Amino acid sequence: MLNNMPVINGDPLWALLGRFRADQRKHKIDLLVGVYRDEHGNTPVMKTVQDAEIHLAHEAHSKAYGMLSGNANFNQQMAKFVLGDRPSLNNQCTIQTVGASGALRLIADLIAILSPDSTVWISDPGYINHRPLMEGAGLTVNTYPWQNKNGQLDIDACFAALEKAKAGDVLLLHACCHNPTGIDPSLEQWQRFSDKCKQKNIVPFIDMAYQGFGDDPDTDAAGLRLIIKDSDFAFIAASCSKNMGLYNERTGIATVMTTNHERHADIQTLLETITRANYSMPPNHGAAVASYLLDKPDAWLVELASYRGRVDTIRQALGKALKDRDAPAEFLDISHQKGMFSLLPLTENQMLILQDEFAIYGMPNGRINIAGLKMTEIPQLTDAIMSIISR
Ligand code: PLP
Repeated sequence: MLNNMPVINGDPLWALLGRFRADQRKHKIDLLVGVYRDEHGNTPVMKTVQDAEIHLAHEAHSKAYGMLSGNANFNQQMAKFVLGDRPSLNNQCTIQTVGASGALRLIADLIAILSPDSTVWISDPGYINHRPLMEGAGLTVNTYPWQNKNGQLDIDACFAALEKAKAGDVLLLHACCHNPTGIDPSLEQWQRFSDKCKQKNIVPFIDMAYQGFGDDPDTDAAGLRLIIKDSDFAFIAASCSKNMGLYNERTGIATVMTTNHERHADIQTLLETITRANYSMPPNHGAAVASYLLDKPDAWLVELASYRGRVDTIRQALGKALKDRDAPAEFLDISHQKGMFSLLPLTENQMLILQDEFAIYGMPNGRINIAGLKMTEIPQLTDAIMSIISR
């Protein structure tokens, strides 16, 4: 069998992380992986998560198998958190998944069963794993552009590309904090996406990986809620990885939205059948923690707001430092972007110089994790950028 082993290039992110770890320079900076970091460079367990875990440990009475759909209270609370307390809640079938990645793949498998000829449209640049997740289910993927040269949403190019989408295709959009650009549509632009989906009979598929990291959770969900309100059929993948810091607990949901209530039971069964043939059922711990937090969210929302505040403070300080140094205009939109990521307008070669000469590690496409930066490191990054672009 091993003779048939294909040559595979591993994920560049993990390869770079290996280089970062091996780098002996004391002043090295890791802006690679998309995790929140505090001012000391740690990715802490949230205090509210820890409290929930202590409570759950005391209450635990069994590790017996749960339901195929996972934790029912979690599913209900997450649907409410994402959709808001509104009529669209009646139109959802939700199942617990292995993070948003698991939800993306589960929905891709569902699309492959219901409509195998659908093309899934993803943004370029976009989340590095969208294409493999969709293609892994056998689906065809096409792209629409996202960011223009000035660091803004390239809305005309985006809609021009979507003209080629056919009825039944699927439009995968990031709900907020677009990865890797940090560029989110305005509500007017969300309305345009919604109109386009209706006009061309395209199915919206919204990936909500960062709810509460751009603005408060309801504001971050406003575009998703707008497009859902307007559609008869849609998909959602949502995650607790970032906003609860439950990364390695792999906690998320897949939701199918349809106004056809008669088909809800069939959809739920089909989702469960797909997961049953894959990993049977999702792990409970993360969902139990999330469900506990969502039942009484006040303290967690305050903690989440402090995370969001830190990322935004760093973002604003970096934008200001670049402005003070008269960096070119395309660098200055960093201040207006949202969430953990932005794309530095540097070439792959310049990103390599950033790494080799200045010990600052970002992705080859220019993506940096703003949350990975400490306030004290902003001058080092700004100096490096100014030095590189002045050559
Ligand atoms: N979707 C987007 C846009 C992401 O950026 C990420 C994580 O980086 C994911 C999905 C995956 O999230 P999870 O860790 O919950 O699987």
